[in-house]
Amino acid sequence: MKIVEVLKSPGVKLSLEVFPPKANADYSKIQSAIDEICALKPAFLSVTYGAGGTTSENTVKIASHVQQDLGVTSLAHLTCVGATKEQIRNKLSELKSGGIENVLALRGDIPDRENFPIPNGFSYASELVDFIKSESDFCIGCACYPEGHVECASREDDIDHLKLKVEAGAEFLTTQMFFDNNILYNFLYRLREKGVTAPVIPGIMPVTNANQLSRIGSLSGATLPRRFKALIERFGGSPAAMNQAGIAYATEQIIDLIANGINTIHVYTMNKPDVAGSIMRNLSEIIGKSL
Ligand code: FAD
Repeated sequence: MKIVEVLKSPGVKLSLEVFPPKANADYSKIQSAIDEICALKPAFLSVTYGAGGTTSENTVKIASHVQQDLGVTSLAHLTCVGATKEQIRNKLSELKSGGIENVLALRGDIPDRENFPIPNGFSYASELVDFIKSESDFCIGCACYPEGHVECASREDDIDHLKLKVEAGAEFLTTQMFFDNNILYNFLYRLREKGVTAPVIPGIMPVTNANQLSRIGSLSGATLPRRFKALIERFGGSPAAMNQAGIAYATEQIIDLIANGINTIHVYTMNKPDVAGSIMRNLSEIIGKSL
């Protein structure tokens, strides 16, 4: 099913996320985690694409398995940094053969600024959206950044660039993680003011391990509210307590989003069926209900 149709269907929904194994990793172990996550019946499953296309073969393989064998709608991420138009055309054809209908069109992080963009390549995700649109009928989503993308000098410019992706054909937007819902509400307000009306799926990251934080800070630049930092300080030293507290914090964020009228939320579950399962159980009287 196309994700635009999933979004229109009634009821509160969660989408979940997995990342494919690197070439030398234990494929069967990751596949069984993915199977467990799919058994939770997410609205759709996002399958990431390794930086620079490093796990691209496995992205197609996992997304097809999820879609065709497990009957869960899959969203295959696709980055274009370092890829030629010909390579992207081939990737789109593999995705099509794998029965995939949805693509999250991303630029990806630039590994080598001196040689960017490559000849016959892409500079921005909006160009990838344009290209996919001209070649195929995938339902296309894009990334958005409530606190602004790390490379962009101003949040307003970043929204102007986001608008280009929607004008090129992006039908929905998934946000970068955030830990204060007011940041999301403020972002949505600014988007609507600029005339960006595509559905936005807020992305929530359950932080179940204090070590995740340094990576989150450097990758996303997400603001960590005082309330969240207090939780890390108090529970970060105990893995079991941190796991429970991180799941509770993410659950509370999700409940607040739903209470404020948002029906579809994306959870960055990162191959952790136990975390995904705990969140689903915490929301068992809410998910799937038309409240
Ligand atoms: P773009 O939309 O192209 O934006 C990149 C930067 O360029 C921004 O600062 C933007 O403001 C600026 N810009 C855009 N257009 C213009 C223009 N015309 N002129 C000037 N500046 C412009 N990475 C992976 O490697 N694999 C994944 O699977 C993956 N999944 C992700 C999923 C989500 C929901 C999110 C939020 C991010 C994901 N990322 C992933 C990370 C993403 O690849 C990086 O954040 C990357 O640096 C930007 O990608 P983008 O598609 O947002 O780029």
